[in-house]
Amino acid sequence: MTPSHREEQRRALAIVAHPDDIEFAAGGTVAGWVTRGWEVSLCVVTDGQRGTDGALSADRRAEQTAAAKALGVDRPRFLGYMDAEVSPTLELRAALADLLRLLRPHRVLTHSPRYAWAFPTTSHPDHRAVGTATLDAVYPGASIPSSVGSPAGLPWQVPEVWLFGDPEANHFEDVTDHLARKLAALRCHDSQLSARAGDEAQLRSRMAGAARAAGLPDGRLAERFQILRYV
Ligand SMILES: [Zn+2]
Repeated sequence: MTPSHREEQRRALAIVAHPDDIEFAAGGTVAGWVTRGWEVSLCVVTDGQRGTDGALSADRRAEQTAAAKALGVDRPRFLGYMDAEVSPTLELRAALADLLRLLRPHRVLTHSPRYAWAFPTTSHPDHRAVGTATLDAVYPGASIPSSVGSPAGLPWQVPEVWLFGDPEANHFEDVTDHLARKLAALRCHDSQLSARAGDEAQLRSRMAGAARAAGLPDGRLAERFQILRYV
């Protein structure tokens, strides 16, 4: 089996709180994985109903579906929780554990459950709740099926979790070649654009800073992660 063939067998699952979270934090990384043959799935816990005044669930789901397509991701799954009201409940952990056992991803991408002092505007309570529920779904949830949720389904131990928005970072992904797709995906979120004038410049500046922190040459852009390894 060639390395490229092996990589074609790889699956990743991103679990986020709101429509557009994955594009902001890891859109370039996801686009890069898809380019390298990974099958990437997306689960969005809330409909982002409170992102801007008057944003409707149906609109935000449609925008997220278009944005996912721009990144090369299959139709997203929506859990339908209320925006700004997510807690890391046993119910949410069980739903995520069931999804992990169904999809059997080799990598999970999600929010850091830690408050990041350096990035206070990304430390939304829904982000921390989804990060906590996801980590608990990875272990012991999906790994020990009797621990939570439906006892049906084989156990699955996710080998790696990539956290974004963490106060620390142990990995910087060079996404320079995938910037166009990240920006194209972000622009699919029409209902949020008026609230976000200047976002693209700010994003580029943040990604350039991450690239500098990683020691990449000038002109490169990176997304930052704290990677947890389970096996
Ligand atoms: Zn969010």
